[in-house]
Amino acid sequence: MGSYVAYKLAGMGHGVVVLEQHKQPGEQVCCTGIISQKCITSFAIDENVILRQTNSAKLFSPSGRLIRLWREETQACIVDRAALDVAMASRAQGKGAKYLSNSLVRNLQVGDDRVRVEAVRQGERLNLEARAAVIAAGFGSTLVERLGLGRVGDFVIGAQAEVETIGIDEMEVYFGREIAPGFFAWLVPTLPLRALVGLLSRHSPELYLRRLMSSLQAQGKIAWDKAELRYGGISLKPLARTYGERLLVVGDAAGQVKPTTGGGIYYGLLCADIAADTLHRALKGDNLSAKTLANYERGWRKELGRELEIGYYARKFYERLSDKQVDRIFNIIKSHGIDQALLQAEDLSFDWHGEAVMRLIGHRVVSKALRAMKAPFSFRRQG
Ligand SMILES: Cc1cc2nc3c(=O)[nH]c(=O)nc-3n(C[C@H](O)[C@H](O)[C@H](O)COP(=O)(O)OP(=O)(O)OC[C@H]3O[C@@H](n4cnc5c(N)ncnc54)[C@H](O)[C@@H]3O)c2cc1C
Repeated sequence: MGSYVAYKLAGMGHGVVVLEQHKQPGEQVCCTGIISQKCITSFAIDENVILRQTNSAKLFSPSGRLIRLWREETQACIVDRAALDVAMASRAQGKGAKYLSNSLVRNLQVGDDRVRVEAVRQGERLNLEARAAVIAAGFGSTLVERLGLGRVGDFVIGAQAEVETIGIDEMEVYFGREIAPGFFAWLVPTLPLRALVGLLSRHSPELYLRRLMSSLQAQGKIAWDKAELRYGGISLKPLARTYGERLLVVGDAAGQVKPTTGGGIYYGLLCADIAADTLHRALKGDNLSAKTLANYERGWRKELGRELEIGYYARKFYERLSDKQVDRIFNIIKSHGIDQALLQAEDLSFDWHGEAVMRLIGHRVVSKALRAMKAPFSFRRQG
């Protein structure tokens, strides 16, 4: 997300320096790289990083009941996440942003007229000064906390490995407490005969992932000998405050992630866009006060706030369900054709889940079942 802010600000004529702790952006990234077609178009994502386009997914309930989601047009793309970061950085460099690799930011100090950045670059101390700083350091950045902006409200751990596949050309999503308690797992084909298998869990992600991989291998869907397991935190609730004097926080560092799926690329980019515009205006007006930069938070909350709220409550509710209850919801959705109705609704999209949740819980049969399960929903429709 940092590279997108850098790209926009540099393009608007500002001097931008990006400090990256690794040799190059995207190193050690842990992400499946699924983004919507809309995200690709809106942010002009380089087509060379797209591994695959997809218009369908198979969802398996805890007992193995299948719902297949399918639309005629491409719904999502699977991108090479590391390559995406490199492409975004190179686009920002093309506009004049300067990248300092192997540069770990240790501290930021906000003064009256500048921000002092303390970093370590290849073992040497590096001190920089800037009129403002954008923190885009990903999940769990201690910089944010040290600056008094708090911590993200809730999170989960994602675990993933790259494996070989046998005859899998559709994304599969698995539900069930034995697979990924309270969350879900996935098998996502990327290149021919390759796939990413992963899951979200609040505890023991390694145990669940190894178990899932063994089960998929036993089913003949994947093969693996030595797969590297990677882990990453995913915010489920944003920071209470994402700005300060001369400071903005974007992306995972701010918790701008879909709480339903853990997808953070599109929302992070939307917020990065708002951050760059806000900062541009503040730099031009030479007013970088917290009061002025609060416009960033107002802007992104206006766009995403309700979505994040509904998504979070839907997620918390789902976490409380037993496998039997999840199976019951699958049965209702399938037997009443609710999946098809939602798929045919043109205003429902891959990126915005709040409306789908509202329509689902508004459905007569589902709402009756949810009442029996004591669902904590009482959202009023807006607009
Ligand atoms: C298993 C898993 C699967 C996921 N799958 C998807 C998916 O399919 N689709 C989706 O949309 N999202 C997915 N996500 C979420 C997505 O990866 C994140 O939302 C996204 O990467 C956030 O981008 P970011 O730029 O905010 O942070 P990051 O991608 O974490 O980038 C932060 C950058 O800051 C650098 N950095 C950190 N600290 C410092 C420091 N102190 N000094 C210098 N540099 C520093 C890091 O090296 C890194 O380059 C997934 C997450 C996980 C864990």
